[in-house]
Amino acid sequence: MFTKRIGIDLGTANSLVWLAGAGVVLNEPTVVAVTADDNRVVAVGNEAKEMLGRTPGNIVATRPMRDGVIADYLITEAMLAYFIDRVVGRNRFFKPEVMICVPTGVTQVERRAVLDATLSAGAKVAYLIEEPLAAAIGAKIPIAQASGNMIVDIGGGSTEAAVISLGGVVVHKSARVAGNKIDEAIANFVKKKFNLIIGERMAETIKTTIGDAMPPEAAGKATIEDRKSKIEVEDRGSKVEKTNLSSTLHPQPLSSTLNPLPSSMEVRGRDLYAGMPRMIELSREEVTEAIMPVLLQIVGAVKSVLEETPPELAADIIDKGIVMAGGTSTLRNLDKLMTKLTGVPCHVAEDALLCVVRGTGVALENLDLYKRSISKR
Ligand code: ADP
Ligand code: MG
Repeated sequence: MFTKRIGIDLGTANSLVWLAGAGVVLNEPTVVAVTADDNRVVAVGNEAKEMLGRTPGNIVATRPMRDGVIADYLITEAMLAYFIDRVVGRNRFFKPEVMICVPTGVTQVERRAVLDATLSAGAKVAYLIEEPLAAAIGAKIPIAQASGNMIVDIGGGSTEAAVISLGGVVVHKSARVAGNKIDEAIANFVKKKFNLIIGERMAETIKTTIGDAMPPEAAGKATIEDRKSKIEVEDRGSKVEKTNLSSTLHPQPLSSTLNPLPSSMEVRGRDLYAGMPRMIELSREEVTEAIMPVLLQIVGAVKSVLEETPPELAADIIDKGIVMAGGTSTLRNLDKLMTKLTGVPCHVAEDALLCVVRGTGVALENLDLYKRSISKR
């Protein structure tokens, strides 16, 4: 068998490539650097990301998928060609079969354009699969059954919430709030409260270092109770007072004591008025406060899908819970916040960042099984 099969997840933040028989072979930021005058592609992926914000006048580094939609087809085609080259080599004697994953909100015209771009980028056959289906397959959810499953993919640019049954999307909602908006909210908060301007990357670093979707007391409640009773049992014979015991406990979830999360971090930026570099100390609680409005919008998208879900399928979802995927689903305690606000148990899929590309690849390897969910050109 000489024909290679490739699955591509064109994400707003990261693009991943799956090679049948090998797994994930490429994982790079969705950034393309082009020349300003004639739109010629200079660099793609990691190399282009290094150029973001540092380019000389004649080169522009852009994120072509910024809000979960394709902003520029020529650039997208160049990116696809780059990925295909990297995986099958420049010599296209045997053209590959390629499956691309697109957001559900994409129009028929846009779908055609992506399929065409894939063919011009060197594919023998181009297939398309909708993101929630790919995410669900990647999260090992049996999507072909006559039973409701809910998957929420929270990436960089968009949140896709969908209920799937019999291999198709029954209810779906796509909101343009996800990781990037969380970063923006942190930057705005720091600007307002501390008069400090910070960059996109600093904001993201703050999020991944001390970002937390729940105030520590709320998140830690259950586990603290557990530990309290444990310690009480252990100390039953001793003279230690109960009250003393509980006051020595940290109001933190158990997981963060195992893998300690700093309660604050130093943030560097430029003073809004003086224009000079300055440093502040930002606490976890402040970050939670800053990002909460965005988190509530994300949860809102999930709730509106639940509200539109037919009762039979809703019953299935309450039984099975909601599965979360995508990079932002790994934000600390977001699963807990989602569970609390929806009343439905939510949990993060294994390898949340890889679900979509894995599902795209698996669908391509099992075309017959998933043919109802796939379009072809
Ligand atoms: P996309 O599919 O849109 O390309 P991804 O699923 O790759 O997005 O997720 C990228 C987003 O996940 C980014 O906004 C990134 O900041 C965020 N992210 C990655 N790791 C973490 C983390 N540990 N905590 C919070 N956000 C994270
Ligand atoms: Mg994605």
